[in-house]
Amino acid sequence: MIPYGKHYIDEDDIQAVTDVLRSGSLTQGPMVEKFEKAIAKYVGAKYAVAVSSGTAGLHIAALAAGIGPGDSLITSPMSFVASANTALYVGAKPVFSDIDNATINLSPNILKNTLLNHSNARAVIPVHFAGLACDMAEIKKVADKSNILIIEDAAHALGAKYPNGQRVGCCSHSLMTVFSFHPVKAIAAGEGGMVTTNDESIYHELLRLRSHGINKLSDQYQIPEQAEENGVSCPWYYEMQELGFNYRITDIQCGLALSQLNKLEKFLIRRRDLVRKYDEAFLELPNCRPAQSSGRDISGHHIYVLRIDFKKLKMSRAELMSMLKESNVGTQVHYIPLPAHPYYRNLGFVPEDYPNALDYYNEALTIPLFYEMTDNQQQLVINTFKELLK
Ligand SMILES: *Cc1c(COP(=O)(O)O)cnc(C)c1O
Repeated sequence: MIPYGKHYIDEDDIQAVTDVLRSGSLTQGPMVEKFEKAIAKYVGAKYAVAVSSGTAGLHIAALAAGIGPGDSLITSPMSFVASANTALYVGAKPVFSDIDNATINLSPNILKNTLLNHSNARAVIPVHFAGLACDMAEIKKVADKSNILIIEDAAHALGAKYPNGQRVGCCSHSLMTVFSFHPVKAIAAGEGGMVTTNDESIYHELLRLRSHGINKLSDQYQIPEQAEENGVSCPWYYEMQELGFNYRITDIQCGLALSQLNKLEKFLIRRRDLVRKYDEAFLELPNCRPAQSSGRDISGHHIYVLRIDFKKLKMSRAELMSMLKESNVGTQVHYIPLPAHPYYRNLGFVPEDYPNALDYYNEALTIPLFYEMTDNQQQLVINTFKELLK
């Protein structure tokens, strides 16, 4: 079976994890900071805070931004559930703003209208779908006019660039950017996430929230008189200053992630080549087209999505998927529109309010794309589609 996506682990990764296991520290040792510094340098941000997952990163990013009850948080209806759940975690109201048909990303124009109808919006979480960066310059213009913050959900986009050549994560258009290192993403840590920012006070807040709300680095004590006895400072003293979490990542995970980061460029180049070959092949096939076609040289290419006109094809998606499976071609759908989930329907949302996301959903099929995919495997996928789509 050729899966739709797959992580890649080599002997260097195994050695890197083994090295950590032999090093004496399993968590909160040197690897976490090393990984943070490496990501900050790679994306071009001042600060990076590693956490236990991308979801944990989104959660503390929203808290650090000061979003809470009474606020609305806008995101894309076409994403993984974590993007919108972030609003609910902090007691804010999730608001969806429809996607652009050509990019599957948040549309800056539609966002403008969404903001007109939501005066209590405090922040927007654009999602770089499949690794294609959102039009951040436009989104920032729109957000600035309404005085709202931007937190980028870059779970798909490690290694991707904006059209101006800067890397996603540099935060030149946002307060924070969040990455995920789940195995299906660009690099694997097992589970893991990272928040990048250029704001020093946000950085300190993220460090506290990651670890129970306990003061970190040079944070001032709130009750300094408790911190000393007869003028001698107490070496054991620390303060819990707010309600935080245990969202720490381990040294074991960071050892793996650092080793994976060494291969990221190689991963991206192979993915880009595979995408180019797919693009060419599907140009000639009826009733289908790539869901995205812009930014091919700068996207992170997290997944490859085809849009298929199932009505014209006179075949349902489920039927096509099972026929593909018989030819050992694994596929998936990214994603069910968030407003279609029962939990969101119960909150009053309906997918029909987001026609672009719904149209896309009705046609979307994610086909195999991963670093280790061989030319032969890709040819098999293409040939199978040629057979089934004609
Ligand atoms: C994977 C993903 C997340 C969550 O990341 P985890 O590390 O799995 O918690 C958030 N947003 C999007 C768009 C994702 O694809």
